[in-house]
Amino acid sequence: MKTPPSAATAVETAVDRDEAVAPGPASDRARVRRMAARARYDRQAVEAVLDEGFVCHLGFSVDGTTWVLPTAYGRDGDTVYLHGAVGNHALATLRRGVQACVTVTLIDGLVLARSAFHHSINYRSVVLFGVAEPLHDPAEKRRALEVIVDHVVPGRTADARAIADSEARATAVLRLPIDEASAKVRTGGPVDDPEDLALDVWAGQIPMALAPRRPVAEPGCEGIEPPAYVSSYRRPA
Ligand SMILES: Cc1cc2nc3c(=O)[nH]c(=O)nc-3n(C[C@H](O)[C@H](O)[C@H](O)COP(=O)(O)OP(=O)(O)OC[C@H]3O[C@@H](n4cnc5c(N)ncnc54)[C@H](O)[C@@H]3O)c2cc1C
Repeated sequence: MKTPPSAATAVETAVDRDEAVAPGPASDRARVRRMAARARYDRQAVEAVLDEGFVCHLGFSVDGTTWVLPTAYGRDGDTVYLHGAVGNHALATLRRGVQACVTVTLIDGLVLARSAFHHSINYRSVVLFGVAEPLHDPAEKRRALEVIVDHVVPGRTADARAIADSEARATAVLRLPIDEASAKVRTGGPVDDPEDLALDVWAGQIPMALAPRRPVAEPGCEGIEPPAYVSSYRRPA
């Protein structure tokens, strides 16, 4: 029986042939095991998910309790920024060097199989591990806060009043490097068992996307034309 080439051999062969080699996981804990064919570790795939989303779930454990909290974020280059009040428990914990696990999930559709068992969800998701580092320099904090605002509403910081020093001081800002991340993507229809294909049951997909509704102006803003980034808001931008 022919022995399959090791991953290292496959990489060496691809390098010899000058082929592109898909990057693997940065660590063992970041390696997708279940449905590994759905995994992507390249920066482009990870950033595409991070850039389309703007809410993550921030997980961390202390003294046997695990918290997973939803929070906004922004990405700039190889960094994810998190922010909150200086008294924020999660951020205070991360400032002490506790390991963080950040996940971002985009829902692309519901997948209805003929059998209840094979129902699924189409998604793109990212899991990011690491230790976050607090920002102290007020200018750096202001810049990171602007990254978060512009990540959620691209173009907004150019119009909004700038973040004051006092506001930056009252805000904890953390930087999490994107160097231990995995993306996982499910696409396509249901995978029914062959014996179920003839069942008289509708099967297929309900595609889904996050879409804005009509903007609502604040009292006093009736005479102000909504900027294009408001009236044409969409994700990805
Ligand atoms: C919207 C949504 C719904 C899902 N529903 C279910 C469900 O009902 N049941 C179910 O079993 N699974 C579901 N999954 C998949 C789930 O996220 C896990 O991938 C799966 O359960 C395998 O878990 P595991 O612990 O065996 O992962 P493993 O493959 O052992 O995880 C190892 C490592 O792979 C990476 N990884 C794992 N999952 C993901 C992911 N989703 N995105 C990015 N990186 C990842 C992480 O770095 C993790 O540490 C769903 C995913 C999404 C996004």
